[in-house]
Amino acid sequence: MFKAPRGTTDTLPEEQPYWRYIEETALEVCRLYGFKRINTPAFEEAGLFQRSVGEGTDIVNKEMYIFRDRSDNEMALRPEGTAPVCRAYLEHGMDNLPQPVKLFYFADIFRYERPQAGRYRQHHQFGCEAIGDPSPVLDAEIIYMALSFFGALGLTDFLLQVNSIGCKKCRPGHLKKLIEYYRPLKEQLCTDCLVRLEKNPLRLLDCKKPACQAAAETAPRSADYLCQECGQHFDSLQGYLTAMGIKFRLNHRLVRGLDYYTKTVFEIQPAEGGSQSAIGGGGRYDDLIAMIGGKPVPGIGFAVGLERIVLNLKTQSIKVPPAEAPAVFVACLGKDARAEAIRLSAALRGEGIPLMMSSGERSLKAQLRHANALGVKYAAIIGGDEMKAGTVMVRNMETGEQQETQPEELVALLKAGK
Ligand code: AMP
Repeated sequence: MFKAPRGTTDTLPEEQPYWRYIEETALEVCRLYGFKRINTPAFEEAGLFQRSVGEGTDIVNKEMYIFRDRSDNEMALRPEGTAPVCRAYLEHGMDNLPQPVKLFYFADIFRYERPQAGRYRQHHQFGCEAIGDPSPVLDAEIIYMALSFFGALGLTDFLLQVNSIGCKKCRPGHLKKLIEYYRPLKEQLCTDCLVRLEKNPLRLLDCKKPACQAAAETAPRSADYLCQECGQHFDSLQGYLTAMGIKFRLNHRLVRGLDYYTKTVFEIQPAEGGSQSAIGGGGRYDDLIAMIGGKPVPGIGFAVGLERIVLNLKTQSIKVPPAEAPAVFVACLGKDARAEAIRLSAALRGEGIPLMMSSGERSLKAQLRHANALGVKYAAIIGGDEMKAGTVMVRNMETGEQQETQPEELVALLKAGK
C-alpha cells in the first residue's frame, strides 16, 4: 500500500470548507488592499534561493528539496515564496509599472523538516509582496493587512512581535559584537549554534535550545546598532503602528531564518502558542532584488501558513460556511427512464441546481437509500409512468411525501430551496 510521503497530507473533501473560507477571505483582503495575484512555478533554479535566502541558512542548507533535472540543471522545489515573486518582477520588467507593485500568491512550499504537529514537508502559504517602495508606511500597511486578514477570518488573540535587523551598512557592526559576545560562551552552545557562530551569527538569537536561548537573552541587540536611516525607519514604523492602534511587542531575538531580510522583521503567533507556532511572518527585503541580479529595488511582504490557520480556526471553534450539498437526487427506473434522467439532470444543472444523478443500475429502494445517505432534501424519480406523462415524481426525503410535478415546477421548487 502506498501512503502519502512523510510530512505531507491529503486535504480531504470534509476539510475543504476551511480552505475555501481562508482563500475567499484572503482574496477579499487582497481586493481591499489592491494586491494582484501571481502564480510562479513550483520549482526554480536552485541558485535563486542560494543567493537570496542564503547559503548559511537552514532552509537552503538542510531543508531544500534539490535535484538535477534530466538536462543536468540544478533545480529546487520552492522552499519559500518571496524570491520567486521577485524573480518574476525582474523577469517581466515590473519595475516599469507604477511602484509599489503589489502581488499575492497561494503556493505550496517544500522544506525537508522534521514533521510534527503543524510542521510539514509540504505546506501551503498565502503571501503578499509590495515591491518598489522603501517607506515605513508600507511596513505598517503590510502588518496591518496581515492582522486584518486574521481579523476577517474571525481569529483573535494574537501576539505581534517586531524587530529591526538593520541593513548591510549597520549589520556588520552588530554581527561583530554578537561574535565577540558569543566566543567566550562556546561551551554553552549547541552544535548547530557553533556552526552558526561561523556562518550566520544572527541565527544564534533564534535557536530554540534552552541553553542557547539563555545566552541569547543578554546578547547584543540589533536595534542598538542601527544606522541613522534604519533607526529612523524603525522609529517611524513603531509610530505608525501605535497610531493605527496596533499592539506589538519588540523582540530583539526575532531575526527570521532568511538572509534577504533588512530592517523590519515581524511575526504573528497565537497568544497561547509559543514561539514555534507562528502563523505568519514577514519583513522588508531591500537587497533581495539586487542579490538575484537586478538593480536595487526595496520590498516588503508577509506570508501565512494555511495549515496553521486551519488549526487555529478549529481551536477557536470558528464556524466556516459548509460545502454546498446537492439540492436533489435524480433517480430512475429502467433504460428509457435513464436517458430521461440524464436529460433532466443536464437541464437542472443548466439552471444552476447542484444535484447527484443515479446511474439507475440499482433498485429504486437502493437509490433512495443513497439519496438519504447524501442528506438531500428531495429525490426526483423517473419511472415508466412519469416517462409516459412527461412528468417527474418528487419525493420529500424528510417527510416521505411524493408528488407528480412538471419539470418546470421542479426547477421552481428547487430554486426556492424549500
Ligand atoms: P516562514 O516563511 O518560515 O516565515 O513561514 C511563514 C509561515 O508558514 C509560518 O508562519 C507558518 O505559519 C508557516 N510554516 C512555515 N513552515 C511550515 C511548515 N514546515 N509546516 C507548516 N507550516 C509552516
